[in-house]
Amino acid sequence: MRLTQGFIPTIKETPNEAQITSHRLMLRAGLVRQTSAGIYAWLPLGLRVLRNIERIVREEQDASGAQELLMPTIQPAELWRESGRYDDYGAEMLRIRDRHERDMLYGPTNEEMITDLFRQSVRSYRELPKIFYHIQWKFRDEVRPRFGVMRGREFLMKDAYSFDLDHAGAVISYRKMMLAYMRTFRRMGLKAIPMVADTGPIGGDLSHEFIILAPTGESQVFYDAAFEEIDYLSEGAGGFSHDSPADLERFFQEMTSYYAATDEKHDTAKWDQVAPERRREGRGIEVGHIFNFGTKYTKSMNTTVTTPDGKPVFPEMGSYGIGVSRLVGAVIEASHDDAGIVWPDSIAPFRAAILNLKVGDAACDALCARLYEALGADALYDDRDDRAGVKFNDADLMGHPWQLVVGPRGAVAGKVELKRRVVGMSGGDRVEVSPEDALAQIFANSDRRA
Ligand code: ATP
Ligand code: MG
Repeated sequence: MRLTQGFIPTIKETPNEAQITSHRLMLRAGLVRQTSAGIYAWLPLGLRVLRNIERIVREEQDASGAQELLMPTIQPAELWRESGRYDDYGAEMLRIRDRHERDMLYGPTNEEMITDLFRQSVRSYRELPKIFYHIQWKFRDEVRPRFGVMRGREFLMKDAYSFDLDHAGAVISYRKMMLAYMRTFRRMGLKAIPMVADTGPIGGDLSHEFIILAPTGESQVFYDAAFEEIDYLSEGAGGFSHDSPADLERFFQEMTSYYAATDEKHDTAKWDQVAPERRREGRGIEVGHIFNFGTKYTKSMNTTVTTPDGKPVFPEMGSYGIGVSRLVGAVIEASHDDAGIVWPDSIAPFRAAILNLKVGDAACDALCARLYEALGADALYDDRDDRAGVKFNDADLMGHPWQLVVGPRGAVAGKVELKRRVVGMSGGDRVEVSPEDALAQIFANSDRRA
């Protein structure tokens, strides 16, 4: 995209409505604008990041065997009356009445709807297990929407739902999702830690929140530093297969063998057993949550399948959420510096930015055109007739992982300056290379669509 033709309204001043870094940077770099409390419009730069996060989430869900579908945002109240949640959900639910006086609602989640879709068509144990997912906007009328997209009222979530014949099957589905989640967050450059979370009246140990550490996190978290040492991120997870129950078991054991819990589920007796020098405590951001809730919805919504001996049973369900729009803010909380955002390659809005330091200079224009052609639509070409300082600042603010800087002296010599955007090194780390070398490095270095 040529910057002169794009719509990336950056802001110099610090917006005073924003309390945390990611919110400030998202406004300043022109990713989003608030349209009402907790509701945001996604501008082109922000939308590109959101789409990249969605892409990774989708690829990992597909790899786990989950099937994508798309349920609507507006749901009939009837389904929620069946499960008993229409009244329980309280003021967080946005209730709507249509012209025929029918009660509708803007979905805060989809357990009832997926159970209804399931019971309409699935009859036999032969069709199980099944995992469905969709990536859809949710609405929750949060008491205190804040921190930009981190706690919005309208937000994008990936929610998946599993159906299994029995508990043993549900445990396998749960582990598959945990593996998919670890891979998903790793590909975004995040070290998410699965922490034991509250299971409510369901009981059991199958509820984990995926937490990334950041000083602005909303909950207090506790974990054993051993988590930082086990390399489940690169080698471990890569060696596990979704198709092997033994792999999934080994993976789950590794993930849950060390202490990690949020304040809700903190167990001081167990915490005391962690060696003092290994105790880590801090603030955490919840980016995902997986939860087995047994037959809660299949029972209340009278959903059965027949077993091999012809008897009806209520399938066990789980639900699995990822805060897709929250992740945009969470990644920024985890990766930024004083100059701006530092995107991981995989989700950056553009693979690279081309900075033409002297628009109108024949050599600069020609070299930039060549680079732009090679990188295609996945580059942002700063072709504004503006000062170099402005371009450097904006590129650092927007957080492109690579900057290709083209000035008149270099252009004549057939050289560009390549800069890798690294946290805490916004200035003075440019190296002069040939355009070919620069492009080769950029292409070699990212988890992006070809
Ligand atoms: P929280 O405790 O933060 O309110 P939750 O337990 O209500 O989260 P879930 O119902 O498990 O969240 O939703 C799945 C995921 O959706 C969460 O892990 C989080 O990443 C995201 N999410 C939940 N509420 C919001 C919100 N108001 N704004 C943005 N993302 C959200
Ligand atoms: Mg909530």
